[in-house]
Amino acid sequence: VANLFVHPLIAWPEKAFGAPEKDLSRMDEWFVTTEEFERSLGALEARGYILVRVSDLFDTSTVPVTPKPLVLPPGRKPLILSVDDLNYYPYMRANGTVSRLWVDQDRLMARTFLAGGTFRDDDDKEVPQVLEKFLTTHPDFSYQGARGLIAVTGYQGLFGWPTQWAGPALNEAKIQAKAVARRLKDMGWEFATHSYAHRSDKRQSFEEWKASEVRWDNEVGPLVGPTPYYVLPFGEHWWSYPERWEVMTQKGYRVYFGVETKSNLVWKDGLPIVGRVPLDGRGLRRKFGILSPFLDPKTILDPLRPKVMKY
Ligand SMILES: [Zn+2]
Repeated sequence: VANLFVHPLIAWPEKAFGAPEKDLSRMDEWFVTTEEFERSLGALEARGYILVRVSDLFDTSTVPVTPKPLVLPPGRKPLILSVDDLNYYPYMRANGTVSRLWVDQDRLMARTFLAGGTFRDDDDKEVPQVLEKFLTTHPDFSYQGARGLIAVTGYQGLFGWPTQWAGPALNEAKIQAKAVARRLKDMGWEFATHSYAHRSDKRQSFEEWKASEVRWDNEVGPLVGPTPYYVLPFGEHWWSYPERWEVMTQKGYRVYFGVETKSNLVWKDGLPIVGRVPLDGRGLRRKFGILSPFLDPKTILDPLRPKVMKY
């Protein structure tokens, strides 16, 4: 099964690509714009891909996890799309993503705070919104209503809501974030943990990491629901640390997702570890050629991107 992941989209490319050096380079490197994502969906469909859910692929009710039979329309290739860090960290919000998601009646909206204390709302800037629009004209791109997997942390809140701070705004933040999660689930998305703090194992002791896992369970789990899926920060190979692997498996995580140069699959102790390919600025600039199974980068790349890579 093919695996591709994105970060929150650059909704405002002029802002991202006009940012100071350090911010410019990370936005250019790790993100795609709304338009690049739209074009990518068209390219993926043209190559025969069809979106499937992780839960369509694996039965996680027992260990070992077992692959489920998948009967797709003729000529279609299964694809899992995942979105990492749909939290809107401050550096993202300051450099061209939207600021938060919210639900207006039944519509998923993306709000962007503007200079001068104003804001605007859009229904076509973020991944789930763009995908929904695409599916209205290309319904065959989704297998039985599948969307994808959304991986979230907790240390900077959720979907742009400050769910990490105790205080007068906490209750409202929880209500709003929970409504967004419910709406996304109704649309066909599934959720994964992406750890609480998104810290490299080099910058976090085992005890700190264990404590942060409890915070995810207390602050994020109640909003997005329990999940058997763990998307590893930076794609680090945490399964190779016996202590950490023991905690993660005992907590009930059954399918692990990393970052690799191809969509591979390995098994450890009866549990699948899935390699995902990043759809981002580096890939679109044809670094490593890793996007070639999915699309032709030169037809996707936004002309607003800097001509020369700054990193
Ligand atoms: Zn991440």
